[in-house]
Amino acid sequence: MAGLYIHIPFCTRACPYCDFSFELLKDGRVDGLLAAVEKEAGRRGREAPWSDHVINTIFLGGGTPTCLTDPQLERVFGMIHDRFRIDPDAEITVEANPETIRVSKLQRLRGLGVNRISIGVQSFSDEILRRLGRSHTADQAARAIAHARETGFDHINIDLMFGAPGQMPSEWAETLDHAVDHDPDHVSIYGLTIEPGTEFARLEEEGLLDLPDDDRHVGCYFQALDRLTGAGYRHYEVSNLSKPGAECRHNVSCWNGGDYLGLGPSAHTHSGGRRTANTRDLAGYLTAMEERGEAVDMDETLSVDERIHEYILLSLRSIEGMDTLAFRDRYGDDAMGRREPAIRTLAAEGLLSERGSRLCLTRKGLALADSVCAYLM
Ligand code: SF4
Repeated sequence: MAGLYIHIPFCTRACPYCDFSFELLKDGRVDGLLAAVEKEAGRRGREAPWSDHVINTIFLGGGTPTCLTDPQLERVFGMIHDRFRIDPDAEITVEANPETIRVSKLQRLRGLGVNRISIGVQSFSDEILRRLGRSHTADQAARAIAHARETGFDHINIDLMFGAPGQMPSEWAETLDHAVDHDPDHVSIYGLTIEPGTEFARLEEEGLLDLPDDDRHVGCYFQALDRLTGAGYRHYEVSNLSKPGAECRHNVSCWNGGDYLGLGPSAHTHSGGRRTANTRDLAGYLTAMEERGEAVDMDETLSVDERIHEYILLSLRSIEGMDTLAFRDRYGDDAMGRREPAIRTLAAEGLLSERGSRLCLTRKGLALADSVCAYLM
């Protein structure tokens, strides 16, 4: 079994904090991308290990895949079914932004077998959405969720963002209340990070961005965990909560080291410790596909140390934590022994706790997950 990710790099507007691979939607560009992705899928689908795998999770991400027209979406799914063997019970997720969601489009997606929709809501405050430079309103977000439910999507994720410029805990509390009222079965919570080269990075440098300080930022994260777990969501990964049984299977498999194939610009692929990544920008991807028939520009086989680092990072981000017995089995007692002083230090600082054979981030550790993992490397 393996996952399939397809990157659709088009958006209706450029969000000023975004550093994903995306382009503004322009007539004629989508068909060029789809032709290149078809070519890539044709080639990869014939190669091992993908020719032997059954695909049990599919994720159309972006960008904004719901920018595509119905015929373009049909073309994508036609290609998927032509080139790969798909498990009849596959989880099939499409990312969507509220301004691109229409009932007719959702019906078409359901007809194409899509059973999970992930909506980039970010906030239920028009003022915060404006400050984030988003191209939708709170009302459009609410209607998008309602339409998804009416159309028969049982699995609905909403992405929420905290730490927006000028955001107060009271506004974040209202956004969380709205989220709970809409009752999606999955919620992803992300703190705004300022990425180099973005419009927000420039504004911050000029002192024009009123960002919450670290304490308020972390406070918003805990506020979300408390509100959502209190409403019946299970916190299963640092940034993800779901109703029981509604975890994102695609992401869980990737975090557990499963195989996945990525198609399109910037898409990553993993198989048995070998990772590749495609050229990040659309123009470079199209040129590479035309000239070489493939667009890989990073290809690495992880060393044992790199595998250990990745194992620690991914397993500690899961709320179940890292199974130290499984770690010893995989990487030996020495690898564990070398980390024991660091584990003791982190435990003494209240960042890690031991539950039986499992090593877990504490509540304090969750807010510093990346630093804790780095310390264990
Ligand atoms: S919609 Fe998403 S991918 Fe597109 S610009 Fe905004 S944050 Fe980036």
